[in-house]
Amino acid sequence: ISKGLEELRDLPCVTKDGHHMTLWVNTGLMTDVVRSLNHGAEGVGLYRTEVPFMINDRFPSEQEQRDCYREQLEAFAPSMVTMRTLDVGGDKALSYFPISEENPFLGWRGIRVTLDHPEIFLVQVRAMLKASEGLDNLRIMLPMISNISEIEEALHLIYRVYHEVREEGANVRMPPVGVMIEVPSAIFQVKEIAERVDFISVGSNDLTQYMLAVDRNNPRVASLYHSFHPSVLQALYKIACDAHAVGKQASICGELAGDPGGAILLTAMGYDVLSMNAVNLPKVKSVLRSISLRWAEDLLRRLLIMDSPQVIKSTLEFALKEVG
Ligand code: PEP
Ligand code: MG
Repeated sequence: ISKGLEELRDLPCVTKDGHHMTLWVNTGLMTDVVRSLNHGAEGVGLYRTEVPFMINDRFPSEQEQRDCYREQLEAFAPSMVTMRTLDVGGDKALSYFPISEENPFLGWRGIRVTLDHPEIFLVQVRAMLKASEGLDNLRIMLPMISNISEIEEALHLIYRVYHEVREEGANVRMPPVGVMIEVPSAIFQVKEIAERVDFISVGSNDLTQYMLAVDRNNPRVASLYHSFHPSVLQALYKIACDAHAVGKQASICGELAGDPGGAILLTAMGYDVLSMNAVNLPKVKSVLRSISLRWAEDLLRRLLIMDSPQVIKSTLEFALKEVG
C-alpha cells in the first residue's frame, strides 16, 4: 500500500477512469465494527448473525438479539447493514443445538434450518426490525437458497413480522431483502431469484466449494479449491449480468472480494458492491484506485478464454505486478 491507512480511509474508491466501486465489510463481532470504521467501510455487506449465537450457551432472547443488532446498525448509520439470517449447520455449530449428519455441507444448514424452525426465524427478524426503528439502514439477506419456494416462504414470514411490528406501533420500514447466491442451482435462476427480491449477493466461498466439490476446510483437497477456476469465473460473470438484466444490484461477500486480483475481475464483471473482511479493504481500495476499468475489462476478456486455473492465477498476478 503506497498511502497510509488514514489517508486512504478518506479517499473514494474510484478507478483512474472514474468508475466508482462500493466497498463494504463483513462483520460478526463488535470488534469488527470498530476496525471496519477505521478502515473506511461504507457499509456492511454481510453481518454474520450466527456469530453472536455461537458465542452464547443458549439461543439469545429477542431482546438480547435486538440489543446486539442495534449496536451494529447504530455504528454504521446512515450506511446500510446487511444482516444475514441465521446460517448454522455445515461448519458452523451451536453447542446448544447439535446437528449430527454424515454430510453436513449437503445437509441441514442455513435457510433450511430456519424454515423448519420458523420460531427461530420469526424471533430473529422481529429483533432485526425492532432494532432498525428510527435508523432505516437494515437489509435482510437469506443464506443457502437452492429453491425459489424457500424465498417465497421466507418473504412471507418477513412480511408477517413486519405487519405485526407495525400494528404494535413500531415505526419501522420494510427493509430491502436479498438472497445469497452460493449454491450452484441458484446460478441458473438468478433472474427468477432477483425478480423476487431487492438484491443478490454471491457467497463465493460456498459457491466455489459446491461448484468444484471441494470442502473449503479440508486441507487434503485444498489445492483443488481454485477461486479462479474458469467455471467459477464464468459463473460469477453470469450472475452479475443476470442480476443487472432484471435491474437488481449484484454484490459479492465471499473472500474473493477481498483479494486484490479477485476485486479487479469482479469490478470488470460489473459487480456493484464488494464486501470483504475489513483488513483487506485498504489493499483492495489502493489497487482499484491504481487501475482503469478499461484495463480490467481487457484483462477479464483475456482470462475468460483460458482453461487452466493456474495459468489464470499467474497471469492475474503478473498483471497485478505491472500496476504495482
Ligand atoms: C460465502 O459462503 O461465501 C459466505 C460469504 O458465507 P460464509 O463464508 O459465512 O458461509
Ligand atoms: Mg456461505
